[in-house]
Amino acid sequence: MSIVRAGGPTPLPQPARRPLKIFAFDPMLGRAARNRISIDVPNEPLAPGPIGSRIEVVDYDASNRLRYPPVDLNDPAVLMAGGIDPMEAEPRFHQQMVYAVASRVVENFERALGRRWAFRGDRPLRIYPHAFEGRNAFYHSGLKALLFGYFQADLDDPGPNIPGQTIYTCLSHDIIAHEMSHAMVDRMREHFLEPSNPDTLAFHEGFADIIAILQHFSFTGILRQTITAQRGDLRAPGPMLELASEFGYATGRQAALRTALDPDAKPDVQLYQTTSEPHERGSVLVHAVFDAFFSTYQARIADLLRISGDGTAASDHELHPDLVGRVAEEAAKTAQNVLTMCIRAFEYLPPVDLTYGDYLRALVTSDFEVVPDDPLEQRNALIEAFRVRGIVPHGVSSLALNALLWPPRTVSEPLPRQQVVDELQAGALAFTPTQAGAGRHWDPKALNAWAVRHADELDLDGGRPIRVQGFHALYRVTREGQLRIELVVQFIQTAGDNEFGGLAGVPLRGGCTVVASSDGEVRYVISKPLPKSDGSSSGDRGAEARARLEAQRAFVEETDLTDARAAFDNAQYSARRMEARTSLARLHRGLL
Ligand SMILES: [Zn+2]
Repeated sequence: MSIVRAGGPTPLPQPARRPLKIFAFDPMLGRAARNRISIDVPNEPLAPGPIGSRIEVVDYDASNRLRYPPVDLNDPAVLMAGGIDPMEAEPRFHQQMVYAVASRVVENFERALGRRWAFRGDRPLRIYPHAFEGRNAFYHSGLKALLFGYFQADLDDPGPNIPGQTIYTCLSHDIIAHEMSHAMVDRMREHFLEPSNPDTLAFHEGFADIIAILQHFSFTGILRQTITAQRGDLRAPGPMLELASEFGYATGRQAALRTALDPDAKPDVQLYQTTSEPHERGSVLVHAVFDAFFSTYQARIADLLRISGDGTAASDHELHPDLVGRVAEEAAKTAQNVLTMCIRAFEYLPPVDLTYGDYLRALVTSDFEVVPDDPLEQRNALIEAFRVRGIVPHGVSSLALNALLWPPRTVSEPLPRQQVVDELQAGALAFTPTQAGAGRHWDPKALNAWAVRHADELDLDGGRPIRVQGFHALYRVTREGQLRIELVVQFIQTAGDNEFGGLAGVPLRGGCTVVASSDGEVRYVISKPLPKSDGSSSGDRGAEARARLEAQRAFVEETDLTDARAAFDNAQYSARRMEARTSLARLHRGLL
């Protein structure tokens, strides 16, 4: 008997994961061997670039009009070594690293949202690892691309870098993850790049930092070393909690660019009230989320420390290596949980005009839906962390959980049946390998007609056009192990260009996010009402609409005060000045 069947052997299954090497943080910290690590990403068919279904690396340098040859990650020389070794002088390693880290971000979003990710138009996002010469890197929403700069390190004060050495922003894990998160947020909520209030851009920045820093906790070896060195206490300053060290030092700041720790190790109660610079304001969100992360982590390891007879984390003797292993596991799990929670909250965010208060409400509501009992008090930790930093949602009576949960709302007719069935089917198929990347197209007409029929119930203005912005099913498993399917659809309305005085180029927008169960019955309507075009706004919704308009007006006036170009002799600049002030290319200069 032969073990080879007639017709030749069957092909071996493709591995599910592809190992690739990266600098754990960036080359400055990476010169020590321990900071060159291997991560694995989902294995997908790749063309040289690498070009995959969601990410396409294009190595064109516009400053020098140069095209670097693309890496072939399927080359046996690369495959057998588990990816190219980290090398600063090898562009093909740079291409590999941006692909690997960006893929990790996509995977984290897919895992949290329970659905397969696709960028708009089902085209991959482009990544240019050496796009230009400059101390910058940014996501460009028009090009749907990430652009990474490179520059010479500060000549006088480069920190541990060599003066004048070339710094590549595409070799920083944090910068890649941060820029990629901007792209992911923009894919889910395209109007969050519009500064309609001081929190929207700050949210973009803070959220991108949160994802980048939380991803550090998946570097198992480094996490164990950190826990050993710090005896289980994660709150100590160091690379695990810092963002973009090399960039920070190379640009002469004598420190990492930003950190997840509160300055002076205590919450700054004033910062949220006083700062409007998006990165600085974003850091308030980062500090709040990490504060909650630390509390949850401490709660999770308390029993381990007690069992080991080690009452406190920061005791004076070394933790046993077995204990380090278990504590590291809990730290990694907690980080993954918080990451998932932060991303999952998107399904419960309004489509426009986001505030930190909305984000807190979305965080607790989405978490409550999946983990109603909150045994580790993770939600309470979050609420408290926001409260001590002065972040209180508008219009809630207290910060008790029940007051923060979005109130359940129904609509008299379920979502259109055929649309629901089509979407559920498409969503389920998207997880089968043969359908991966296949475009999913839903017809907005039926959803639009439904929204028009129920405009009042959805806090929409029946007198204005309604745009269907996104419709998808999400699949999650509850702690009881049950599959939970929900449908999420966003409707958006936009005031006219000159209505309300134009608002300096950022139109007043309204709309709602509708969350329905799998039978189409509406469960939540999370809305931002617009003043009605016929002037008939009344009641609570009318008051809320007028308050939003006034707040946006006040925000334009406030930013005028800090704009040196606000001597408005240039009418063209004046009319679009809010937009001009807030492009990521401009905001990111030196700050990312
Ligand atoms: Zn940014």
